[in-house]
Amino acid sequence: MAERKVMSNPIKVVCAHCDAVNKLPSDKLDAGGTCGKCKKKLFSGKSVTLKGAHAQRHFEQSGIPVVVDCWAAWCGPCKSFAPIFKQATKKLEPKVRFATLDTEKEQRLAARFKIRSIPTLLIMRNGKEVARQAGLMTLAQLEAWLKPYIR
Ligand SMILES: [Zn+2]
Repeated sequence: MAERKVMSNPIKVVCAHCDAVNKLPSDKLDAGGTCGKCKKKLFSGKSVTLKGAHAQRHFEQSGIPVVVDCWAAWCGPCKSFAPIFKQATKKLEPKVRFATLDTEKEQRLAARFKIRSIPTLLIMRNGKEVARQAGLMTLAQLEAWLKPYIR
């Protein structure tokens, strides 16, 4: 008797390139995969730049936690944190989606999150902010902070 393969707990992944919502079987998440719409890699070791309404799509549709680096071009500490965030992206994708929010370009988003100092990091899950950390972190601190939110 042929066994019918059922997708085990598909996880929703929002494409970093076209914002399409893809469903990946949970056991395939580690392999990443390609977007059904634009055919690009769902995870490419680069963070997503959040823009306007698209940000909401990532927050609400993503089945994996989204960590957001809120920064600005004039902010020195933000610049020193950027390479750490990049390292974490390469290391922890696809368990976590990494995103950046330019608080100068996306002032409405920044206002919504009441960002008072930068850099500020947010963890979003199911459209809600579940954790927030202001100030610099080392790679080890960032990993430790994210750990409880990674399945
Ligand atoms: Zn895509």
